[in-house]
Amino acid sequence: MRIYCKICEMELSNELVPLPADIEPVYEDKTDVLPQGFYYTSDERPIENSVGWIYTHLKDIINTVYNLENAGGCCGMDGHAGLNLICMNGHEFATEVSDCWTPHFVKVEPDKVFLMEGEKVLY
Ligand SMILES: [Zn+2]
Repeated sequence: MRIYCKICEMELSNELVPLPADIEPVYEDKTDVLPQGFYYTSDERPIENSVGWIYTHLKDIINTVYNLENAGGCCGMDGHAGLNLICMNGHEFATEVSDCWTPHFVKVEPDKVFLMEGEKVLY
């Protein structure tokens, strides 16, 4: 599936498939939580207090710029100020966590995007 901006329909991810059940996300500093090309949701693998967040690899998110109002961190983004990624048209949709003292991932807010599997809209 691919992720699109709900407001302007810009493509925001590479093609992603669900993380297989036998691969556990890794929450270690400076480490990618999951391999490239995959995603999982916080419903399937609860972390933090989020509902329906879509977790994916930093390099699988495309056509974005940083929302400087929410950008903060040491060597990268710590993600603590909220949504720090916006589409090229300025619509916020995700938080990048990529700092030297955090695991590395992007979490996408489900209300800000829609997902498509080929021509079919998933939601
Ligand atoms: Zn947009």
